Amino acid sequence: MKQLVLAGGGHAHVHVLAALAAAPFADTQVTLVSPYPCQIYSGMLPGWIAGHYAIEDCSLALAALAGRAGARFVQTACTGLDLDAKQVRCASGENIAFDYLSLDTGPVADPSQPTGTAAHGLPIRPIEGFVAAWPGLLEKARQDDFKLAIVGDGAAAVELAFAIQTRFAAEGLNHARLTLVGSNPQPLAGFPFLMRRKAIMLLAAQGIEHLGGRRALALLPGHVRLDDGSEIAADAILVATGAAAPEWPAASGLATDEAGFIRVNAKQQSRSHPFVFAAGDVAAYADSRPKSGVFAVRAGPPLAENLRAICQGQTLKPWQPQKRALYLLSTGRKYALAAWGGFSISGAWVWRWKDGIDRRFIAQFGA
Ligand SMILES: Cc1cc2nc3c(=O)[nH]c(=O)nc-3n(C[C@H](O)[C@H](O)[C@H](O)COP(=O)(O)OP(=O)(O)OC[C@H]3O[C@@H](n4cnc5c(N)ncnc54)[C@H](O)[C@@H]3O)c2cc1C
Repeated sequence: MKQLVLAGGGHAHVHVLAALAAAPFADTQVTLVSPYPCQIYSGMLPGWIAGHYAIEDCSLALAALAGRAGARFVQTACTGLDLDAKQVRCASGENIAFDYLSLDTGPVADPSQPTGTAAHGLPIRPIEGFVAAWPGLLEKARQDDFKLAIVGDGAAAVELAFAIQTRFAAEGLNHARLTLVGSNPQPLAGFPFLMRRKAIMLLAAQGIEHLGGRRALALLPGHVRLDDGSEIAADAILVATGAAAPEWPAASGLATDEAGFIRVNAKQQSRSHPFVFAAGDVAAYADSRPKSGVFAVRAGPPLAENLRAICQGQTLKPWQPQKRALYLLSTGRKYALAAWGGFSISGAWVWRWKDGIDRRFIAQFGA
């Protein structure tokens, strides 16, 4: 029996588990390593915050999916690799031996986030940590003059701001004030002009302040210190800055790019260790792609095929990630913006479109 270890139950690995459930890989024992028994689907997280979904609507039951795939489920995090001994080191202290290893562990919170984040901030990743802390934040928002600062101005930060504002309005917390702090002059840098313009308009219409062109340097009790020397008052601070690579792949000796993401070839194999595969945000493709759930999802089916092929001694096939991805960004109140390349559209129907795509994704992999 060959040992295949899947580390992380990310967007690509759920496809691999579904492929295994449909047809097991011959003579292969599969183990899934994940710190949580469920994966919370980030695409629906803002909808959960806004109150549009129950948490079960946005959760993929990894342990159950592993069961259907005939895979052993080990609830722990991978903390390092011994590539000579072919073993995964786990936070539980266990070492798991493998012949082939596939990594879809996603990004980690950006280590360059402001000082004081651990003590005074609430980072969006790990998502499970945020989900556990959210009810407390909602309760705190009932206090008079509540002020929430969101550090970040990318798609995740903006979507969270809209979702939180929508939820506050639904709960009658109209006294609460939201401020987005971002280093770019405008939010959603890199997205089409029309999308940015619409988002800025909607932020203003919903009373969400945007402080652009300023980096948050330090989170302090009740304040955020900015790089222009000013401070803004904040009773709670959410940190939604960019995604970064975990340290352990590079520390284990895998070839990585300068940011620490695992370099892979067109067959999604590590460029330094071909018995290791990587997909999703943790992988660095030769022809680089944005870190996005869309590309992680698309990597799943070709990854499943190549894992099957290598375990069964067959020829692997190259795969080319698509050039463009559709971005759907909800702005609360069941309204959404869409971008495809340089084009952008918006409307309540775009939200229904996104809702349908997200619900189908969850339904595909079982509750
Ligand atoms: C609020 C928010 C909204 C977003 N909305 C969208 C969107 O609408 N569309 C879009 O394309 N992108 C969106 N993104 C980005 C998207 O979340 C990521 O690009 C996507 O999750 C990457 O998928 P992945 O499979 O690489 O990793 P993930 O989805 O992060 O999955 C990784 C899995 O591995 C597990 N794991 C982590 N570390 C370890 C470890 N050491 N050992 C074992 N397991 C581990 C995690 O628990 C998780 O289950 C959003 C991000 C956020 C924060």
